[in-house]
Amino acid sequence: MSADSAIADVLLPLALDGAYSYRIPAGMGLGLGDFVAVPLGPRQMIGVVWALKDQAMTNKALRDVIGRFDVPPLSDTHRKFIDWLSAYYLEPAGNVLRMVLRAPGAFAGPREQVAYRITDSAPKRMTPQRARVLEVAREGFAMRAVDLAEAAGVGTSVIKALVKDGALQAVALPALRRFAEPVLNAGGYILSADQQAAAAALRAAVVARGHKVMLLDGVTGSGKTEVYFEAMAAALAGGAQVLLLLPEIALTQPFLARVENRFGCEAAQWHSDVRTRERDRVWRGVADGTARIVVGARSALFLPWKKLGLIVVDEEHESAYKQDEGVPYHARDMAVLYGAIGKFPVVLSSATPSLESLVNVDRGRYGVVKLKDRHGRPELPEISLIDMRSVKMEPGQWISEPLFAAVQATLASDDQALLFLNRRGYAPLTLCRACGHRLECPNCAASLVEHRFRKQLMCHHCGHLEPMPQACPKCQTEGKMVPVGPGVERLAEEAAARFPGARIGVLSSDLSRGTLLKDALADVENGHYNLVIGTQLVAKGHHFPHLTLVGVVDADLALESSDPRGGERTWALMAQVAGRSGRGEKPGRALVQTYLPEHPLMQALRKGERDAYLDQEKLIRESAGLPPYGRLAAIIISGEDAPSTERFARGLSNIVPMAEGVTVLGPAQAPIALVRGRHRWRFLVKAKREVNIQGFLKQWLEGVKPKGSLALQVDVDPYNFL
Ligand code: ADP
Ligand code: ZN
Repeated sequence: MSADSAIADVLLPLALDGAYSYRIPAGMGLGLGDFVAVPLGPRQMIGVVWALKDQAMTNKALRDVIGRFDVPPLSDTHRKFIDWLSAYYLEPAGNVLRMVLRAPGAFAGPREQVAYRITDSAPKRMTPQRARVLEVAREGFAMRAVDLAEAAGVGTSVIKALVKDGALQAVALPALRRFAEPVLNAGGYILSADQQAAAAALRAAVVARGHKVMLLDGVTGSGKTEVYFEAMAAALAGGAQVLLLLPEIALTQPFLARVENRFGCEAAQWHSDVRTRERDRVWRGVADGTARIVVGARSALFLPWKKLGLIVVDEEHESAYKQDEGVPYHARDMAVLYGAIGKFPVVLSSATPSLESLVNVDRGRYGVVKLKDRHGRPELPEISLIDMRSVKMEPGQWISEPLFAAVQATLASDDQALLFLNRRGYAPLTLCRACGHRLECPNCAASLVEHRFRKQLMCHHCGHLEPMPQACPKCQTEGKMVPVGPGVERLAEEAAARFPGARIGVLSSDLSRGTLLKDALADVENGHYNLVIGTQLVAKGHHFPHLTLVGVVDADLALESSDPRGGERTWALMAQVAGRSGRGEKPGRALVQTYLPEHPLMQALRKGERDAYLDQEKLIRESAGLPPYGRLAAIIISGEDAPSTERFARGLSNIVPMAEGVTVLGPAQAPIALVRGRHRWRFLVKAKREVNIQGFLKQWLEGVKPKGSLALQVDVDPYNFL
């Protein structure tokens, strides 16, 4: 089959379903999975050999494969993974392949390993473009021409011209540094009896070398990380590569240091902040098998794994594992799929497992290992509800009297308190008191959110920024624009007024993930702040030993959504936030402000009864035929022109095929009817679990071709209903 095949079908990283056929020049000897350069029109592209044939299926003259890259071939498992994922999400295989090829530098040959560095001599002529390049180059790193050009936002010709002028100088790039071998027992603790039992169960699954999914269920701090490290050690001992997936935001330096400490070697990192050259290095290391441990965000699944033998998905319930743009895939589900194809175990770890995973445990499809708190603390701290219907609130205030008193007492005893509100900015809405006009984003059907620290209005959907107007843009009245409702910034203002002397720190994603956030978190941990005001950013597994009180300012926010997973998510969020308190010596407690104290979720929180609440959620989902008891797919239609978008959506509903066990809801205008200038309509397809929903969608959408600005997106297993 291999060495003497005449024709290679090459999958290209384009929105194409099939592979293109090319002639293999005599003596090239290609194998399946080889990375090759092929011509496409006037361009040259990198693709992967997907099939080999002795004869062309067509009489057309085929073009020749240009060359084979000196890169290990993409494994059978990985190619199968791409094909399955493409079939599952109805996404062209080429689009999936594009996610594998995200390190173009990894393909550069030895001759192209040249970088450019700034010199002392100024160019003869200066242009704004040249100035930008020099500004980037002045940061000191030698960069390849393509990377330098990209960073400066110019073409490579500008780089060439600067080299000719002597302002840039070529230097040879050092070879990519090899990843060191892990040391299986470099560090770590003596595990508790519970941890040992859990680790033994995971290790057994690894040693059995078959596909098995294990759910590791235990509160934050119960020692799950140490336990799955043992499973990783077992897989590494067997010679496999391991992937530890984390939600991007949890990929912090202290966590990486922990991995490196445990395994005595550098872990390869893969996430959006990794620099180009390092991406190349990780990509090559994963492809040739020398990178044994990768810690990465969801896209690390697509790295060209040579011999992957274990995936750990930490915080498996996190919705951040679902990608909404591009290929809409769920990394946890695809990790499980990869394990099934590659016949190796997958560990899902969480303090608040998803309902999907719990139901898979019920069905006997997943194994489960539970971990109790190592310090004998209860699963949740004591949680009390504050019935907001029965407390009097001053206008413009959000902290009720009982919460106020609790915070004051906490600060007085030198402990830390956290006020949680899951809303960035100052106010979610700004109105004109004269005419009632509300400030909206020009590109989206959404209110602009005032960010007072930045002195700007911001759209949380498209990022649009504008200054706060003095006068109403509609009626021109001055000084009548008023904020409505609270965001964390406004809550901080109230807190500053009512708790004079408190050392207040505000934590939200506006701090971004850089050093600012790191400093802020450190200042919470070391007690520099004693009153922390934060969004869900603070809920994520941080360890604040001095925190003894958590106040949830508006617990009803998440429940209001029409998302079928709203209840489950609110539970996870509340449990995580409440769980921030009492992590040190002293016990903690949480006060939850709600207008719905009778809601089953609030009652379950008060009693600390997770399983009882989730059992009830299961019943609700089951009777409604929602996942994981039924299947969902969303179809999102968008376009620049409102009437033609609507017409296109309505036209689609006329051609819905008849199918047993399938209900098509819609088309309906999307809850956010306009995003980035695009009008949006949605269908929701609900199907029984045994229905092949992909088959139905294919039949329906076969031959449907959106024209002009119209676009149609299929989202199988949607997590976002806006
Ligand atoms: P989880 O992943 O469940 O949140 P971790 O594994 O992060 O829990 O453990 C919480 C803390 O306890 C960490 O600081 C960890 O280093 C420490 N820890 C875990 N297991 C042990 C152990 N057996 N002995 C001592 N400390 C431990
Ligand atoms: Zn917008």
